[in-house]
Amino acid sequence: MYSLRFDSDICRTCPSGACLVKCQYMDVDKETAKEEMVKISQGKDSFVLEQCVTCYACEEYCKRGNHPFYLITEKREEKGILTSPRAITKQWINIGHPQGKYIIGGIKPRILSFGFMPEFLKMVKGRLFEDIMPSFIFGQEFFCNVVYLHFANTSIIKERLPMVMENFKRLGVEEVVCMHDECYGSFAHLAPAYGIEVPFKPIHYFEYLYKRLKELRTEIRPLKIKVAYQRPCSSRLSSDKHHFVRDIMELIGVDLIEREYQDENALCCGGIFAMCYGYDLAHDVQTRNINDMVAHGAEYCVFNCPACQSTLGEKVAKRDIKPIHMIDLCKMAIGEQP
Ligand code: SF4
Ligand code: SF4
Repeated sequence: MYSLRFDSDICRTCPSGACLVKCQYMDVDKETAKEEMVKISQGKDSFVLEQCVTCYACEEYCKRGNHPFYLITEKREEKGILTSPRAITKQWINIGHPQGKYIIGGIKPRILSFGFMPEFLKMVKGRLFEDIMPSFIFGQEFFCNVVYLHFANTSIIKERLPMVMENFKRLGVEEVVCMHDECYGSFAHLAPAYGIEVPFKPIHYFEYLYKRLKELRTEIRPLKIKVAYQRPCSSRLSSDKHHFVRDIMELIGVDLIEREYQDENALCCGGIFAMCYGYDLAHDVQTRNINDMVAHGAEYCVFNCPACQSTLGEKVAKRDIKPIHMIDLCKMAIGEQP
């Protein structure tokens, strides 16, 4: 019922082939990039279907409104090209299965969504969230399902995401502040690409934090620290919100170091690589990334996604860089966290 909006004619006249030319995990020139995307859209075989490591970045690189990564995911599934061992894929499908065990903290027109990440329950305390708490939801019934892109399981997303939208509709909320970057990517980018109706306005938590910090401006004490930002894969689905990283850092007096692997050139945390593509790739990417942070004098590594933090946190700490989530960094700036 739901199908991907992808136009191969747009690829034929594409001046850049940026989706694959900029891919950090393949070496592809412009003409090959265009040809491969057209071939993939026609259901033909392509080395891209074998080599893509699901970093999501081509969704950001394509500036012509096509959806190269969603297309790659669809065609992989059609052809039975697995990205991880079958048992791992199955385990993830089971983890996200709706079981009727969700938590609703209270309903207001604007609500926080924790998706399926319990870490946020502890984080959303204090003045940054006092105007919205205790209005939140948590559980598989409200899970964005984006993670299945890593496992070439578009069919699960098409089956479950509309059910999630119905659950939100029943709550009758008007605005959902997405505490996990993936949720925002799902509601603002993935669902529209498939024509799935979203019955509320999704708000990225960076936007919420920025606004809230401006309201608390008089309480901000500039932190005067040098930080590296670890951009998550899902941020590629909301690249229009990426500017809030710099905006927030500027507001709280943090020096965001200029390094090689940031913005469009960011490297993944490697968590999915270790699970799906082997430890060698994960190790290589993590080593280059952390060396880059060290070389540019980062004192802190700021995380957007708790999963990235759990993958890389200990590794950066071993190199004397303190891991911290963006929310905790903002709490530090208003004196709520040491
Ligand atoms: S997917 Fe986008 S960037 Fe890639 S060839 Fe097509 S139009 Fe160009
Ligand atoms: S998702 Fe990442 S690895 Fe896969 S083709 Fe796109 S840019 Fe390359």
